[in-house]
Amino acid sequence: MRNPLSVITCQAAIAWTANAPLSIEKIEVDPPKPGEVRIKIISSGICGTDKHILEGKDKVPLPAILGHEGAGIVESIGEGLIRCQLLFRSAF
Ligand SMILES: [Zn+2]
Repeated sequence: MRNPLSVITCQAAIAWTANAPLSIEKIEVDPPKPGEVRIKIISSGICGTDKHILEGKDKVPLPAILGHEGAGIVESIGEGLIRCQLLFRSAF
């Protein structure tokens, strides 16, 4: 298990503009702040809302990392969380 206070590098599918292919890029993710968790995403879907954003029909500031319906494992925990443990499975 890595140091929970470190910045990690991940791959993300970034929507830079509407009506354009997603760009697969490496991003840095900060450690969790108090009350937050950082989840290692195992799988994620692109839903109808995401599709509307990609088509420019929903006005969401871009760039954005879409795919808010996912599942993963709690990788690190911010201060103050007492009802969450490392390696918990999570779906959102
Ligand atoms: Zn959705």
